[in-house]
Amino acid sequence: MKAIAVIPGTAGSIHLRDVVTPRVEDIPEGRGVLVQILRVGVDGTDKEINAAEYGAAPLGDDFLILGHESFGRVVAVGPAVNEFKAGDYVVATVRRPGSSLYDTIGLQDMTTDDVYFERGINLRHGYLAEYYADSADFLIRMPAGLKEVGVLMEPSSVAEKAIGQAWEIQRRLKVWRPRRAAVLGTGTLGLLAALFLRLRGLEVVAFGRTPRPYLNADLLEEIGATYLSTADMSLTEASAIHGPFDFILEGTGFSPLVFEAMNALGKNGVLAMVSISGGDRQVEIPSDKINQGFVLGNKVAFGSVNASREDFERGAEDLASAELSWPGWLGKLLTHPIEGLENYAQMIETLTHGQGAIKVYMNIAS
Ligand code: BGC
Ligand code: ZN
Repeated sequence: MKAIAVIPGTAGSIHLRDVVTPRVEDIPEGRGVLVQILRVGVDGTDKEINAAEYGAAPLGDDFLILGHESFGRVVAVGPAVNEFKAGDYVVATVRRPGSSLYDTIGLQDMTTDDVYFERGINLRHGYLAEYYADSADFLIRMPAGLKEVGVLMEPSSVAEKAIGQAWEIQRRLKVWRPRRAAVLGTGTLGLLAALFLRLRGLEVVAFGRTPRPYLNADLLEEIGATYLSTADMSLTEASAIHGPFDFILEGTGFSPLVFEAMNALGKNGVLAMVSISGGDRQVEIPSDKINQGFVLGNKVAFGSVNASREDFERGAEDLASAELSWPGWLGKLLTHPIEGLENYAQMIETLTHGQGAIKVYMNIAS
């Protein structure tokens, strides 16, 4: 079958190659599911892997099949699979278990191992191919009614994990009644996080760099969120007007904002950090002020990566609720389709320079 791969460590090595088609029997204990891949979303991680800044090939291979945001249809299942059948729409999780205690209870997103296994990213092949096979344990069923937007599931799971963890942490307060949230960054992840927070009934202010007119700002308004451009108003200024924020999600990739967010966070508030900042930037921060604010305000900040099976399941529920509350809204995030695996060069080009891109994704089969 055809697959899009890179040679990790070699910048710009993205290419199309022929690889062995996986089979149900490749997966042990009869738990195999063979999936035809319909669509795969791409993001900054794929771009970084092709730039040789990130990612590793599976042991024994010198190439890595890219793609971690999958959506597909079941073709065949092994004898010990009763939760899926041919024709079901499914999404696969990304991380696979290592050896820490968390991995053994299905929480590999919380691994304490130094090495982690992620399909399409690190040490495991991904989904930018015609088929994949995996254990039923790592698949999530999608309702057929979500087939047009199912490719948004993986980024949804990352947003759900950060929100879910924050809510879990806030059980420390016995009666947490969050009212206002700030979302920093208005790409796919920020838009989905804003959506899920609106579904939970919060007022949401989302911050981006781009001034209006801006499609993402219009989309935020459609779901009742407020968009503010940091070109007009800083987070600190905005929190005096729109805050105090009970929850802040920082996902811009610009790490200095984390410290501004710590300051803008309200009393008893919680800050989720989800940006993977690969650089080595250094900044000066008002450390006394931030520290005192945290102590006197009982604040929490935490990091969140990847997502568990439960986060995917919550993602599927919330995508379904979103389609009922704001029909057609999710589809508007799918701005940049690329037709066919052959067009991998156009995919990288669109990821890098695509005007007004929210979600870039590849249509692999219909
Ligand atoms: C993926 C996550 C992954 C993270 C770190 C992100 O792009 O969406 O699933 O855990 O990269 O590799
Ligand atoms: Zn990703």
